[in-house]
Amino acid sequence: MSEETLFSKIIKGEIPADIIYQDEHCIAIKDIAPKAPVHLLVIPRKIIPRIIDAEAEDQALLGHLMLAAGKIAEEAGIGEAFRLIINNGAGAGQTVFHLHVHILGGKNFSESSLGF
Ligand code: 5GP
Repeated sequence: MSEETLFSKIIKGEIPADIIYQDEHCIAIKDIAPKAPVHLLVIPRKIIPRIIDAEAEDQALLGHLMLAAGKIAEEAGIGEAFRLIINNGAGAGQTVFHLHVHILGGKNFSESSLGF
């Protein structure tokens, strides 16, 4: 079993968070420091540190995260204009080494670069 992470502690209820969705494979929480009016994180219960650490056996889980992210975004009422972002590695801005998909929405991104 991988080491505990901030997000695995949230999943276990050891650290509080605004949990807005959960199922047997993942949870979604509000980001504590939102970079957009709606900023959610979809987190697998399984600890995979980075997307490049995912393996063939994680294929269904990764698909599940994408499907869940789409549904969660829809339920969050941010229409069809939102971004799904996965940071891989410190150089890309990853700070929590437990795979997560950022959902960013509630603003117009059409003029902005890919940065947050
Ligand atoms: P990363 O930079 O690893 O891609 O994203 C980590 C995200 O987790 C950041 O957007 C950061 O604001 C968020 N975060 C860090 N600590 C906490 C926390 O304790 N609770 C919640 N809800 N989000 C957190």
